[in-house]
Amino acid sequence: MIRFENVTKRYADGTTAVDSLSFEVAEGELVTLVGPSGCGKTTTMKMVNRLIEPTGGRVYLDGEDISAIDPVRLRRRIGYVIQQVGLFPHRTVLENTATVPHLLGWKRAKARERAAELLDLVGLDPSVHGDRYPEQLSGGQRQRVGVARALAADPPVLLMDEPFGAVDPVVREHLQNEFLRLQETVRKTVLFVTHDIEEAVRLGDRIAVYGQGRIEQFDSPARVLGAPATPYVADFVGADRGLKRLSVTPVEEADLDRPPVVRPGEPLRDATARIAGEGARWAVVLDDQDRPLGWLPAGAQPAREAVPGKDVTVREALRPMDARLPLGAPLRQALAVMLQHDAGWIAVVDDEESGRYLGALTPGRLHEALRRSIRADAADRTRAGIALETVAGAAGPAR
Ligand code: ADP
Ligand code: MG
Repeated sequence: MIRFENVTKRYADGTTAVDSLSFEVAEGELVTLVGPSGCGKTTTMKMVNRLIEPTGGRVYLDGEDISAIDPVRLRRRIGYVIQQVGLFPHRTVLENTATVPHLLGWKRAKARERAAELLDLVGLDPSVHGDRYPEQLSGGQRQRVGVARALAADPPVLLMDEPFGAVDPVVREHLQNEFLRLQETVRKTVLFVTHDIEEAVRLGDRIAVYGQGRIEQFDSPARVLGAPATPYVADFVGADRGLKRLSVTPVEEADLDRPPVVRPGEPLRDATARIAGEGARWAVVLDDQDRPLGWLPAGAQPAREAVPGKDVTVREALRPMDARLPLGAPLRQALAVMLQHDAGWIAVVDDEESGRYLGALTPGRLHEALRRSIRADAADRTRAGIALETVAGAAGPAR
């Protein structure tokens, strides 16, 4: 869908922001670009909608060389969300959201209807928030409006440049989860820029880890965490120390995600309604002895024709998944299972024999567990150091 071919950007002052970059983003894929400030992420992104022109190489959208597409027409196919949302202060939330449909010449009523639909989709009640002005919203709500606005004309591609960077961590996690759920429904091709590896791992189908103007590794979250391609990547994800910790850190209950649980015999309609009602993106499917069978996306459709007059059940739509792991197994094993099954999550069970489901381990949670373990290790060392030096009343351990 988006393809970079040996793309270079050298600014007038001689700075090479992006150096002969080649990569491809598949249709419906969410790719996160992650790296430290100044490594060329924003430059990369702006070359997709021609806010910046490359000095070498080509960018293709859906097979078309974008340098041959009129920038205004090009941008209609690309939603763009940035951190300083850029909402018009003197226009209401609904009007802001309807900006692009309006520009595209939609009838006013249709544009407003579409805007209301989008606000609803990003978790803002249009009847409550639609007539407010941007300054009357919280930071998190403004970001949601930014996302709704970018999606309003239903572009196939979405560019997001640190969209959740300015909100506090709790709201941020909330927005991330909501966005993942949204993406499950709209399936856009997304390039998402962040400097936060945690966010990159949580959101990305694949991750491009940037060094200085170049991609050091372009891979699944599990591979970036588990098999860093270069020492730079290892350092960036904290895996240099992490790999050692992986072997000695067990999977604990606190590490597990608890998505909604559905049963194979349940009517599909009820199950998906419940998943949506709980604000989740997917559910675990368990048999009557609580053993995991697979998972069900929030927007699941039956895989085959329903028998007329008979309710379609979860069984007909579930996606089998047999990556599992007993509680207490080391994180290294969890990572190995994840890689082996190329799975976005693994089911953690009480023990191999009964196989009773306890919770789900995702790459994001695995990485959090690893980080926690590294911090605890560092704290232990600091404490040990303090004990040795017999320093009384020292401050708490360094983090
Ligand atoms: P990131 O988004 O990863 O923080 P940018 O793509 O914004 O990085 O910038 C990459 C490099 O290009 C940085 O060294 C930055 O200073 C430089 N740069 C960005 N914009 C310009 C510009 N208009 N002129 C000169 N240098 C620039
Ligand atoms: Mg940037």
